Amino acid sequence: MSDPNCLFCRIVRGEIPAKIVHDDALCVAFEDVRPQAPVHVLVIPKAHIPTTDDLAAEHEPLTGHLVTVGAKIARDRGVAAGGYRMALNCNAAAGQSVFHVHLHVLGGRSFGWPPG
Ligand code: AMP
Repeated sequence: MSDPNCLFCRIVRGEIPAKIVHDDALCVAFEDVRPQAPVHVLVIPKAHIPTTDDLAAEHEPLTGHLVTVGAKIARDRGVAAGGYRMALNCNAAAGQSVFHVHLHVLGGRSFGWPPG
């Protein structure tokens, strides 16, 4: 459930500081340390799940919760009406650098499509 060496598990356990903006039974959300937009929050499960490729049907309540928490954060930050982006990077080609599932919530600027 928790990996002793995982960076984001360590944030969940309070061993590494983070600017926590949401905390509940299933997930934690915190400010990205290298923000790519005026709003850049990561929503992560408390359980250690390395990538979206490790998600199974049993995780559907959790994954739905991550998205609704992300949407609430976007509303609370005032970027929902103007538009925002949620992103889940999986493995090397997508540039995943931390192997603990995290939903990026990005807002406060325009985003190109297709993404880089
Ligand atoms: P990804 O490339 O999708 O794996 O995204 C990992 C994200 O984690 C990047 O946007 C990093 O800036 C962010 N990150 C890495 N270390 C920390 C940290 N200690 N606190 C907050 N965000 C972090």
